Amino acid sequence: DATLLEVRDLRVEFRTRDGVAQAVNGVSYRVAAGQTLAVLGESGSGKSVTAQAVMGILDSPPGFVTGGEVVFQGRDLLKLGKDERRKVRGAKMAMIFQDALSSLNPVLSVGAQLGEMFRVHEGTSRKEARERAVELMERVGIPAARQRVGDYPHQFSGGMRQRIMIAMALALAPDLIIADEPTTALDVTVQAQVMDLLAELQREYHMGLILITHDLGVVADVADTIAVMYAGRIVETAPVHHLYKAPAHPYTRGLLESIPRLDHKGQELYAIKGLPPNPAAIPPGCPFHPRCPLARDVCRTDPPPLYDVGPGRTSACHFWKETLDGAR
Ligand code: SF4
Ligand code: MG
Repeated sequence: DATLLEVRDLRVEFRTRDGVAQAVNGVSYRVAAGQTLAVLGESGSGKSVTAQAVMGILDSPPGFVTGGEVVFQGRDLLKLGKDERRKVRGAKMAMIFQDALSSLNPVLSVGAQLGEMFRVHEGTSRKEARERAVELMERVGIPAARQRVGDYPHQFSGGMRQRIMIAMALALAPDLIIADEPTTALDVTVQAQVMDLLAELQREYHMGLILITHDLGVVADVADTIAVMYAGRIVETAPVHHLYKAPAHPYTRGLLESIPRLDHKGQELYAIKGLPPNPAAIPPGCPFHPRCPLARDVCRTDPPPLYDVGPGRTSACHFWKETLDGAR
């Protein structure tokens, strides 16, 4: 499929009282139309900041894009003016956040909020906008949509609110959706339903989808490729099934081993020791070395490049081959 979005060597800095933090340090990834890229990482890994830079909603200050390109449908968005950028956002790319209650307007009915999208962007009449709001609510599986179109966000359950956020994102038929932890606040059953809906809509509309998550368990069934982030860098990319079968980076291996599995009941879960680094004090060499069970002297001094380790696969580990072989 044709490339929809290509992020190239993106860099984002945060300037705080403690100094300069390199929140995103040379991130590159690609999303094709109709494809799902999962971006996986712990909190503070830079996964959300990268997405905010792509969307053009980075809080600045303190965040600044200091380098790279965000090429979307052939244009570098970082070179567009504010107005042009705003037109792309909403109409061509939309974002779904974790917390619908704080993203939706609490004093407007959901029908009014959905309808406003059409009225503002397409000049639709009030009546027609309401009708389309009902259709969208039905499409995302809100029961009794016509009766509930005048209800306010707090009158819906968490799962239903997430569906309404998806409807908002879909309203203008964007080519790319970025979903940042879209199901994290929901219980497990509802998580699966919302994720299935997102995957279904993504296929139906042939959109690109970037799914940001800290939970490897959530993305297995819906992602085509995975990019694993650590300390503001991508440390591994792979087609999803390859990554699950044989990770090529010790960090990914640690994440996989810490997923609870039904067939390993009672067995103690492996957890990666230690904590991710403070973005203002990233360790030298490989940033993962203080936590890595395979670390050797070279890891403490030489930053690993992103090696090509197979078709569509990269790993930023000096010992990717051993890691890959060890997994087999
Ligand atoms: Fe571990 Fe060294 Fe590989 Fe970094 S480069 S992940 S420290 S083995
Ligand atoms: Mg986040």
